[in-house]
Amino acid sequence: MIVVLKPNITKKDESAVLREIRKLGYRPHVMRGIERVVIGAIGDERTHQSLETLVSWPQVERVMPVQKRYKLVSREGQSGNSVVPARDIPIGGKKFQVMAGPCSVEDEKQLMATAHAVKNAGATILRGGAFKPRTSPYEFQGLGKTGLKLLAKARRETGLAVITELLSEQHAEMVAEYTDIIQIGARNSQNFQLLIAAAKTGKPVLLKRGLSMKIEEWLLAGEYVLSNNNPNLIFCERGIRTFETYTRNTLDLSTIPVIKNESHCPIIIDPSQGAGRADLVAALCIGAAAMGADGLLIEVHPNPAEAWSDGAQQLTLEGFARLMEKLKPFIAAAGRE
Ligand code: PEP
Ligand code: MN
Repeated sequence: MIVVLKPNITKKDESAVLREIRKLGYRPHVMRGIERVVIGAIGDERTHQSLETLVSWPQVERVMPVQKRYKLVSREGQSGNSVVPARDIPIGGKKFQVMAGPCSVEDEKQLMATAHAVKNAGATILRGGAFKPRTSPYEFQGLGKTGLKLLAKARRETGLAVITELLSEQHAEMVAEYTDIIQIGARNSQNFQLLIAAAKTGKPVLLKRGLSMKIEEWLLAGEYVLSNNNPNLIFCERGIRTFETYTRNTLDLSTIPVIKNESHCPIIIDPSQGAGRADLVAALCIGAAAMGADGLLIEVHPNPAEAWSDGAQQLTLEGFARLMEKLKPFIAAAGRE
């Protein structure tokens, strides 16, 4: 930690700060400038009590951390990329993985038609919400366990792995029984008890970025998964809320190089929640592949106009097949398969 003292304070006030720093287990290193004193407090900030409360002292101007607050998700903790196994599908390795399927599981016909179509087009993982986090309680909330069973059936029929959202700690075991990856949605990305429950199932966890979540908060939320003995974490950028209304959210593709710099965990991009518009999905997927994302999470529906949720952003089955063709040269140019 760096502790900056206010200008022209007395020696007595300075000594009091130094005493407190020592008391909290740090070794102070004093740097004396012309007007002010800066103290480097040496010690592990993650294992010692924080010095941040020193800002409330009248003689202290600022306290700044030097170390990162996350350690297990950090590149410093592990230099090579993590490859997360979703059943037998590696995420974060050479192969660029596409997860695709409807926003919500609606019925057997809709899910099976989508599952077969996305598989034929090259997707390896089927998405579909059985528990839906809806803004209004009057909107479709998902089929629940019936939806999970349909996903399991689609997995049996197609061989695709499955990803679905976990909304409540109470459902952690049940959802884990049916899915290969647990999705933690944007609205729950800082629901720490839910993150712990998801981690403890032992299934890989895909962590969406929250609606107004800073990257550091996202990394720290991910730290909850790794620090609960689950090494299989995937970050998923899905757009953040900004002043812009042309798109549903503002998809922050800069998170790809940022997460790659900061963390060894894979990052995938969800252009569907990101744009909220089917016509923008292809361009965002191309950008994500070219920028080094490890995969995509795309909403696809046999008849988006009649979808029970997120109709405007879902691709048709044909649209998805065209997109997969269009993506090929960009995936190859990024050095992926
Ligand atoms: C979804 O994937 O359908 C979803 C609800 O996503 P998010 O949590 O990113 O809004
Ligand atoms: Mn959706």
